[in-house]
Amino acid sequence: KLSDRLGGVFDRLRGRGALNENDVREAMREVRVALLEADVALPVAREFVEKVTEKAVGQSVLKSVTPGQQVVKIVNDALVEMLGSDASELNLAVAPPAIIMMVGLQGSGKTTTTAKIAKLLKEKERKKVLMASLDVNRPAAQEQLATLGTQVDVATLPIVAGQQPVDIAKRAMQAAKLQGFDVLMLDTAGRLHVDQQLMDEMKAVANTATPQEILLVVDSLTGQDAVNVAQNFSEQVDLTGVVLTRMDGDARGGAALSMRAVTGKPIKFAGVGEKLDAIEAFYPERVAGRILGMGDVVGLVERAAQVVDQEESEKLAAKMAKGQFDLNDLRAQLRQMTKMGGLGALAGMMPGMKKAKAAMQAGGMEDKLLLRMDAIIGSMTLKEREKPALLNAKRKIRVANGSGTTVQDVNRLLKMHQEMESAMKRIKKMGGLKGLAALFG
Ligand code: GDP
Ligand code: MG
Repeated sequence: KLSDRLGGVFDRLRGRGALNENDVREAMREVRVALLEADVALPVAREFVEKVTEKAVGQSVLKSVTPGQQVVKIVNDALVEMLGSDASELNLAVAPPAIIMMVGLQGSGKTTTTAKIAKLLKEKERKKVLMASLDVNRPAAQEQLATLGTQVDVATLPIVAGQQPVDIAKRAMQAAKLQGFDVLMLDTAGRLHVDQQLMDEMKAVANTATPQEILLVVDSLTGQDAVNVAQNFSEQVDLTGVVLTRMDGDARGGAALSMRAVTGKPIKFAGVGEKLDAIEAFYPERVAGRILGMGDVVGLVERAAQVVDQEESEKLAAKMAKGQFDLNDLRAQLRQMTKMGGLGALAGMMPGMKKAKAAMQAGGMEDKLLLRMDAIIGSMTLKEREKPALLNAKRKIRVANGSGTTVQDVNRLLKMHQEMESAMKRIKKMGGLKGLAALFG
């Protein structure tokens, strides 16, 4: 994982004053490996690293973050920018029917995605959609679309045996116009590899239908070959966007970067499962995090920045910088956490906090228990809060009685405090919450 490996780079870079070329190149070597591991195509990774290196070298180091963190921030921003800074929508603003044509290799998910998008348009935008399969190569391909049409309750063009793709397209356009459909979706045939007959057929359909959208459907598990696929298709037709399928799988999403780099077109949707509602808008930030292997750190920091009171977090950061985290801090944190959606939500987002989360769950510390924990700490003396080790068996009984809980509850809370303390130490290594917050703005 990049974050692990960069941890090493962080340590080595710590304490230096500026982003010199050697620092940056060292960090970039790790970034390059991470990109390749995430299946970003080699030439794309190379170009990306080159570009970002140029940008990073010579930047003055921000006060609140380490040079290594700053490099990661620059890489993250560049990734997000390259992946597209905002979610891109379908452009259907034409006299109906607007035509959407799906292209791509066989098995990439064209037919499934056709039905998914049709369902979206029907349900979210109240569009009247007609789907037509132009796949005359694969046996029962047209029937497959008809079946999906029944499942999502979207009309499909009646099948006429023996018709060629261009003729089916013409018939579909006529039917859509006559029957007042808003959108016509053309699902085309694919081959296992790019071949010229497929390309000619696809071009002929595109010339006949002049679609508003030509979407290239790509399996996100496509590794290094993604570049060739994108190049070949975009040379033949005017793609307007890309759909990445199987983002629910193990794919780290590197194909997204390759697709963007080669086609220059926005990624409009991500397929996230076999079910017909398993489709999402494409979120560059999320995929950038996935490519870099940073988990949900960004999301955590953003939420923290939103909710955590500035003064409070600065006080805590100052204490953490000194390696302190006592029960008073825990109490302050508990109150912030309630605002941030509860313990589980928070712990689940933090790297390295799986253990703490498990401890919370094992202790049955549901969100409603936050109040009880607050009461437990409230029943301790100030000295005990600062130095939990003072809490011997006798004192624990007093605290339990005072808070209307049990000694077991008190022990759970102390165990959690210990877990959090060690998690805080890990965060401190990463530059502290404040550092993280500054890092991700
Ligand atoms: P086509 O040959 O390009 O039309 O591909 P299909 O639409 O027939 O899909 C091939 C297989 O991939 C089917 O089994 C689909 O259920 C599956 N599939 C499509 N999109 C996704 C996705 O986003 N996630 C997962 N897990 N499977 C998908
Ligand atoms: Mg198909």
